[in-house]
Amino acid sequence: MANSENQYLLLTPGPLTTTRTVREAMLQDWCTWDDDYNVDVVQQIRQQLVEIATSHSGYTSVLMQGSGTASVEATLGSVIPADGKLLVINNGAYGARIAQIAQVLNIPHQNWDLGEISQPDLNVLDQRLRDDSDITHVAMVHCETTTGMLNPVESVAQRVKAAGKVMILDAMSSFGGIPMDIGALGIDFLISSANKCIQGVPGFGFVIARSALLAGCQGRARSVSLDLYDQWQCMEVNHGKWRFTSPTHTVRAFAQALTELAQEGGVSARHQRYHTNQTMLVAGMQKLGFSCLLDEALHSPIITSFYSPESPSYNFKRFYDRLKARGFVIYPGKVSDADCFRIGNIGDVHPVDIERLLKAIADSMYWTTEAAETGVQA
Ligand SMILES: *Cc1c(COP(=O)(O)O)cnc(C)c1O
Repeated sequence: MANSENQYLLLTPGPLTTTRTVREAMLQDWCTWDDDYNVDVVQQIRQQLVEIATSHSGYTSVLMQGSGTASVEATLGSVIPADGKLLVINNGAYGARIAQIAQVLNIPHQNWDLGEISQPDLNVLDQRLRDDSDITHVAMVHCETTTGMLNPVESVAQRVKAAGKVMILDAMSSFGGIPMDIGALGIDFLISSANKCIQGVPGFGFVIARSALLAGCQGRARSVSLDLYDQWQCMEVNHGKWRFTSPTHTVRAFAQALTELAQEGGVSARHQRYHTNQTMLVAGMQKLGFSCLLDEALHSPIITSFYSPESPSYNFKRFYDRLKARGFVIYPGKVSDADCFRIGNIGDVHPVDIERLLKAIADSMYWTTEAAETGVQA
């Protein structure tokens, strides 16, 4: 198996486990302005991203240096005009981060804080859009990686578009792993990054945008390096050139990751694998006595939050270390009012890996019995 040369599997939703061939794509240095790098690689990536996102015309894509948050910040800061107002649908840490960005950039906004385990009520959404006619843009996270919640993007986008607002979707942890046609849904800006479901390595994010809307964003940016319009123009005019030093190795790895996504059978095949991983994981964990934070109906195939065991001798770090020694890295919880840990199943992770993981977890439950305590070597 390609991932077996890693010391351990990252069951973390980015950076995640990549294939050896993706990592090998980084074994050469590239010149940022040479045709080998620009024309053949960056432009193809931009084109492929649009094709993955939608079958509709009128969309373009922009790559942006930095982690995924930089692309969220570039979008909010470059797209919302000075007299605009943003409604943030916030049901987790990444929704809260969108509100924080709006706050710091002085973008007028309404932070609709739903807590972390519930979804937006569509009637309340309609009401909010009616009550505050200053709202021009609405932002939401697709898969809230905080909990693993999959937000109802179809129905929310439908209400937002019916109200005539611009829809911005943080699909960071879902794009490439969950089928979706943003043109059909009416989403105007979608943001994701290299190191999530496309299974590349970290270093840049990207935005898939309705071209006509992005074209109207000249001069709006609240930052030089995060000017989405300028970056787009540079890439359009100069055949894929980034304005400032581009993450060349990451870009080459990403091109390879896109090839491997196509070889796997595209987004629907990848989604199927993630879904199988996730349902196997939940069934196996429940058998071991763990329970999920969210109702199963709210789960995404990306990451799952489990309640920490209630035993007084349970300690996350110790559990984590035991699993790591057995070849698996899991994720601490991020929910504010529940004690949880999280297990991601995106990346080069397959059902056989989940089987091995469940065995490793069974072997690492030191808190359950004295026998497990003495019988297992950490
Ligand atoms: C990973 C992620 C981000 C961006 O995180 P970075 O650490 O900046 O790459 C944003 N939103 C969601 C939903 C995410 O999962």
